[in-house]
Parts: sequence; structure tokens; C-alpha cells
Amino acid sequence: MDSQLLALIDLQSLDTRIAAREAEAARLPKQIDALHAALAEAKRTVDALRAKADAAKKDLRTKEKDLEVITAKRTKAEARLWEVKNNTEYSAVLAEIEAIKQEKAKAEEEILALMDLQERLAVDIRDAETQFKRREAEAQQNEAVVRKKLATVEEELAGVRGERESRARELPKGLLGDYEKILRARGGVAVVAVTTSAICGGCRVAIRPQAIQELKAASVLMVCESCGRYLYWQDSA
Ligand SMILES: [Zn+2]
Repeated sequence: MDSQLLALIDLQSLDTRIAAREAEAARLPKQIDALHAALAEAKRTVDALRAKADAAKKDLRTKEKDLEVITAKRTKAEARLWEVKNNTEYSAVLAEIEAIKQEKAKAEEEILALMDLQERLAVDIRDAETQFKRREAEAQQNEAVVRKKLATVEEELAGVRGERESRARELPKGLLGDYEKILRARGGVAVVAVTTSAICGGCRVAIRPQAIQELKAASVLMVCESCGRYLYWQDSA
């Protein structure tokens, strides 16, 4: 086979490997970002629960103060029962005490509900923290794996790029330029095989029988009349 054609085939193979590794090198950091995002989400869950617990604690303190005020009000009202001058006043104070009792019962109920809420939130916070820590440990492990993979890919990339450079130097500048132009224009594929099915491996257009003969002889560089890619003959697919 023509040495220039061989160099082009090699170059294509190297460029395909470079493109695959470049895609991988671009994809892997996104995996790390996704790990961080998931972790941040788990952290937000913990923070939101903590904020709820803080609010409940504050509410509870307020309600407890309210209860103290209500209790004092009741003591005062009960003392007034001894000072009233007639039945009407007595009934009025009794009614006031009854109202205070209801107010007190309501406050106590609210306090119990808040205590209940606090207990539930404490459990939820513990669960969320456990989950966060587990996720954090997992994320660290996964990130280490991804970073290792990324380092490997970048190392491979450097190697293949070096190989590609030295192979590219073997081609005349004009031919290399043409090859690179087709590579960019045709989705990273500039050299394709034609097999016994006699179609261009790039654009699937049928190759003329005369051209097949020339391809088999491989004495000159041939390009696909339809897509412009370099063609070479390959007996089996
Ligand atoms: Zn073609």
C-alpha cells in the first residue's frame, strides 16, 4: 500500500483515539460536578431541617413565656374572687377564669405539639446527617476514582498526541492540511475503508467498479466523489 495512504490511515486511527479521549476528558469533570451537586443537595436537606428545629425551639420559648403570663393572669383572677362585692362581679370573674383556663389549655396543647415536633425533627436531623455523611464518604470515593480515570485519560491523551505529531510529520504539508480540513468538515472522519459492499465507509455512497479496481491497486490516493474522504480498500469489514 502507498506509504502516504498508510500514514493517513494511521493518522485517522490516532485522531479517532484522541477524539474519544478528549470527549472522556471533558465528560469526567462533569461527573465530579454532579457528585458535588448531589452532596450539596444532601447538605441543604440537613440545613433546612436544622432551620426548622431552630424555629420550633424559638416558638416553644415564646409559648412557654405566654403560658407563664397566662398562669399569672389566672392567679390574679382567682385572688380577685375574694374581693368581689356581688354575684354579678363574681360571675364575671368566674367567666374570666374559665376563659383563662381555656387559653391555658390551648397554650399547653401548642407547647406539647411543639415538643413533639422538636422530637420528630431531632430524629429527622439525625437521619439526614447520617445520610449526608454516608453520601459524603461515597462521593469522596467516587471522586477519587473519577480523578484517577481523568489522570489516566490525560496521560493517554498526551501519549497519543505525541504519536500523532510524529506520524503527521511524515506527511507532506499540503496533504496533511487537506486531511485536517476534511477531518474538521466531516465529523472527525477523513479516512474510511471501502469493503466488498463497495460503498464509502463515510457517506455510504456506492463506489464505481472502476474506482474499486484502482482502490484495490492502491497506487494513488483516492477520495470519495461524494464526501471527499480518503478511501482505502479493505477485504473484510
Ligand atoms: Zn463518501
